[in-house]
Amino acid sequence: MSYITGVIERIRNLTKSIKEYEIFLEDCVKPEPGQFVMLWIPRIGEIPLSFADAEDNIIRFIVARVGRVTGYMHERLMAGDKVFIRGPLGRGFRWAPSGRALLVAGGYGLAPLHFLAKKLRAAGCGVKALLGFKSDDDVFYREEFERLGEVEISVEHGSSGYRGTVLDLFRNVIQGEIYDMVYVCGKEELNLAVMRECLIAGLPVEASFERRIRCGAGICGSCSIEPLGLRVCKDGPIFDGRMIMPMLGAERIEG
Ligand SMILES: Cc1cc2nc3c(=O)[nH]c(=O)nc-3n(C[C@H](O)[C@H](O)[C@H](O)COP(=O)(O)OP(=O)(O)OC[C@H]3O[C@@H](n4cnc5c(N)ncnc54)[C@H](O)[C@@H]3O)c2cc1C
Repeated sequence: MSYITGVIERIRNLTKSIKEYEIFLEDCVKPEPGQFVMLWIPRIGEIPLSFADAEDNIIRFIVARVGRVTGYMHERLMAGDKVFIRGPLGRGFRWAPSGRALLVAGGYGLAPLHFLAKKLRAAGCGVKALLGFKSDDDVFYREEFERLGEVEISVEHGSSGYRGTVLDLFRNVIQGEIYDMVYVCGKEELNLAVMRECLIAGLPVEASFERRIRCGAGICGSCSIEPLGLRVCKDGPIFDGRMIMPMLGAERIEG
């Protein structure tokens, strides 16, 4: 797959360690929510990023500063700079055209869920988003989600919304409200815990998983989820809860 050239139109600081990049692409892409690209910066490296938004030739990424490539993006990239992308790649969310969806995000995991919420809303679905952060200073994208549906925030330390983890908030919410579908994107512990609870409750659930992705084409095996042998770049990054069942302890769910 060849690279598409992108020019950075705008960079927005969302928190101390998270930025939003709005990029104009030479060619139009039509991603499904949950799909990703390999973003290449010559001489620096190539990393996977989820679409936080895509409309015609404009795409948006939300990027947390982690290491070499994301550090370079935060410190050195400016409006007008060029980047190169391969994609859209992978399997996106299987989003239902009707009903009520609950979205559960931990930190920058909200990126693919924002794009999903936009599509669900446009298709007439009800959307509620639970956005989890460590502290008040880490909160971002609240208004963007409020434009698309209901939003509840959780912080572990602070006073913005529910005090606790987004998993605790999720447990409270599903006790009293009815949903047709749950989508989750965050740390693996959050994904697995939400998936386990949904399967026990008989609720369809999908999650976005992360691994180190190198080729992005399903060949090198660097992103396999073991012992299942599923490749995040090709079979995922979105997985149905039932597919991940062996990682969840199937006995407990079936019992
Ligand atoms: C499908 C997919 C979609 C993603 N979408 C986004 C997104 O929308 N926004 C965003 O900010 N990030 C996203 N990520 C994560 C992002 O790709 C990594 O943070 C990035 O590759 C780190 O690159 P780096 O060069 O800055 O860090 P490196 O210098 O490569 O690594 C720094 C440290 O982080 C660890 N690390 C880096 N990446 C991973 C990983 N994937 N899993 C476990 N440990 C890791 C390394 O082992 C090392 O210790 C996504 C990842 C995947 C697989």
